[in-house]
Amino acid sequence: MLRVVLLAQGNELTTGQTVDTNSNWIAEQLFPLGIEVVRVVTVPDDLPQLVEVLADAAGRAPLVISTGGLGPTRDDLTTEAVSKAFGLPLAMNSEAMGQVAERYRQMGREMPEINRKQAILPEGATVHENRRGTAPAFSVEVDGTHLFFLPGVPHEMRALMRDSVLPTVLRVFDLQPPIRRIVRVIGLGESTIETRLADLHIDGMVIGFRTKMPENQVKLRFRSNMPTEDIDRAVAEVRRRIGWRAFGVDSGDLGEVVGHALAARDQTVALAESCTAGAITAWLGQTPGASRYLMESAVVYSNAAKTRTCGVPEAMLIEHGAVSEPVARQLAEGIRERADTTWGVGITGVAGPGGGSAEKPVGTVHIAVAGPAGTVHRLLRLPGDRPRVQSLASAAALAMLFRSVTAT
Ligand code: AMP
Ligand code: MG
Repeated sequence: MLRVVLLAQGNELTTGQTVDTNSNWIAEQLFPLGIEVVRVVTVPDDLPQLVEVLADAAGRAPLVISTGGLGPTRDDLTTEAVSKAFGLPLAMNSEAMGQVAERYRQMGREMPEINRKQAILPEGATVHENRRGTAPAFSVEVDGTHLFFLPGVPHEMRALMRDSVLPTVLRVFDLQPPIRRIVRVIGLGESTIETRLADLHIDGMVIGFRTKMPENQVKLRFRSNMPTEDIDRAVAEVRRRIGWRAFGVDSGDLGEVVGHALAARDQTVALAESCTAGAITAWLGQTPGASRYLMESAVVYSNAAKTRTCGVPEAMLIEHGAVSEPVARQLAEGIRERADTTWGVGITGVAGPGGGSAEKPVGTVHIAVAGPAGTVHRLLRLPGDRPRVQSLASAAALAMLFRSVTAT
């Protein structure tokens, strides 16, 4: 993979006044092209440090992209640093001078004398026209390393990246973007996933992890010339080892995948939600076309609602309490019967912060899924505050539904 060093220059960055969004944005553009960022360096406007960092960067990678330090003021030292680091004398660049002058003409203003400084560039530099500002961007090639110097102002930098830098990089370097697959996993921690994949070594595949609550994702990167069958086989093996909780590959989120699984089978679902207050329904409802399978939902916080809507017997509520297995089961079965759907989901729990007891602490959640082959139930003890308990409970309920649906 092509290696790149990103450089951000400016005292405003090293004193905490400005966040370096430039490097972040550039990295995001380079990533899908298969360009590997090996360093992101932030330096103050200090000549000796700039010289040192530039020389180091050029020795480290064949591509360096730097932002900032191209202005007309005394603290903008880039050209001087490039000159010193690579022994390139500075000279007035007539092309750059023409561009700076043109910018001022367009703005209808007289060019201040100090802006001539912006046209003094290292010998042999290629000028990249900045149509949005006065600082001309430039690049130099030193011993096979291509170094690009872009203005710090984000919108100017982005335009130059798109119009000049990326096209040049694509022309100069023979890029081989790696092939990526994302395996999406619900309800398993990173360490568990890691353990299941620990002794899996496939030549040409690199495994990475990313947490995107409430999911964990396994990022698979494959050599660009790896045959598709080998990639498919590797992905299947990763999935097999993780198990059914690996609900999708390069797919939508759990709500979407469950929805597609229901639609593919011409099946329908109804939900009775207590502790999640409709969150599971809202999640399912985000997918276009959800009305084909999402038939009906009830938020049944009160005991009376549980009884009226899902037929939970009063005696059951008194004997077991609203947060209990029998009640969750009856919610699922009751809403399924009422809505006449393939599946019914019932959920009841203590989301907190109040309402917990020694026997049923905050985070206690009962979920039931009723279907053609009967009803399954799970008891969860979830960690965290109210939003977290609700979010994890929603994910767990959809995961259970996913498992039931895909097993049919
Ligand atoms: P300069 O090209 O160094 O004169 O920078 C001009 C302006 O661009 C600065 O005053 C900042 O507001 C902004 N800027 C410079 N570097 C960055 C960066 N790495 N990320 C975001 N904004 C920046
Ligand atoms: Mg600056």
